[in-house]
Amino acid sequence: MRSISIFGATGSIGENTFDLICRAGGADAFRTVALTGGRNVVRLAEMARVLRAELAVCADEACLPALREALAGTGIETAAGAQAIAEAADRPADWVMSAIVGAAGLVPGLRALRHGRTLALANKESLVTAGPLLMATAAQHGARILPVDSEHSAIFQGLVGEDIATVERIILTASGGALRDWPLEALARATVAEALAHPNWSMGQRITIDSASMFNKALEVIETREYFGIDPDKIEVIIHPESLIHSMVGFQDGAIMAHIGAHDMRHSIGYALNWPQRAPLPVARLDLAQIATLTFRAPDLGRYPALRLCRDVMATRGLAGAGFNAAKEIALDHFFSGEIGFMDMAGVVETALARLSSDLCLETDVMTLEDILGADHLARVRATEAAVALGQTRHT
Ligand code: NAD
Ligand code: MG
Repeated sequence: MRSISIFGATGSIGENTFDLICRAGGADAFRTVALTGGRNVVRLAEMARVLRAELAVCADEACLPALREALAGTGIETAAGAQAIAEAADRPADWVMSAIVGAAGLVPGLRALRHGRTLALANKESLVTAGPLLMATAAQHGARILPVDSEHSAIFQGLVGEDIATVERIILTASGGALRDWPLEALARATVAEALAHPNWSMGQRITIDSASMFNKALEVIETREYFGIDPDKIEVIIHPESLIHSMVGFQDGAIMAHIGAHDMRHSIGYALNWPQRAPLPVARLDLAQIATLTFRAPDLGRYPALRLCRDVMATRGLAGAGFNAAKEIALDHFFSGEIGFMDMAGVVETALARLSSDLCLETDVMTLEDILGADHLARVRATEAAVALGQTRHT
């Protein structure tokens, strides 16, 4: 029986993974080793009971008594905190879903790779933060990383049987997010609720705001570079409002392979779960005659400074990715709390990265986990300073 663990089980990707596991037979078909969540211990305990997990871990230590109570008498072990989540990744499991949001997903993912596991990677932030380290760890320990981000799953599928050396371009599609049709001058006043109204995808709150600002696409450009080893000049972004083409691979003979399907993350999660086979999945089938038209437009870099910033990050590489992701997470926190505006997020990230590059030598080929976590920490400090300064000028 195949054993699995789900990190970030209570989130949007985690719930979709749980759904597929249940449909495929649940506890009768899989041995569930560990499930982790943040604070929603009621849901975490429910999932752990259904899958008869060995261990349930919540990130917030204050929630441990409630988790223990919810699982009392079941024999399911409980634990809490970042250390316990990292230790859960040391437990043997054949297939591990990495679906924690943010840089917090890095350490558990890395620990799973060190044990040679197959890692279904939704947590793009870990590839942006520590791509070379993750890929080298996977290679060293015979582990496999399977992309779950829909674009990267699409590219991965487009490359089956192909020689990566024949790839001329990778075209990442972007929905444009909730604010894509707003006039540029109105964006500065966009509220959190407005930026959360995503036209196509239902996702966690943080990635939904990142879609509107295109920070999500900026992370995905870097993710493409790190995962596939593609030259940044070959990676393009195009706005495709229907979000039905999940991405495209262009080859040197001019052919473009496009991956088309419903916007349902259970496709790419299911592909990673069943790989290298394909199994039936409960996703909607497209009626192309009804869809009739697919449209595209070039992104305006004035609206989406994140797309410009990710190019600088890839040119520097080294610790720049860790700094970029961490500064972005802090800028997003300050947008959520109303201290800075929607268009201020990119300014905070740019200022933080400029300061970080005088604090540290970002351009390095050899990176340890400690170097990466150090850069992540310092970038958060610098981004907080930048966001607070900006917030003060807004309110005076
Ligand atoms: P989400 O916010 O819905 O869920 C995140 C999960 O992580 C939850 O279980 C939450 O409790 C847990 N968590 C949050 N902070 C934590 C911390 N500090 N330590 C431990 N656990 C913590 O997020 P999501 O939308 O499911 O996204 C998860 C990951 O997948 C992200 O990296 C995101 O970029 C990526 N992703 C998501 C989608 C999508 O459709 N939702 C698509 C592509 C990629
Ligand atoms: Mg994506």
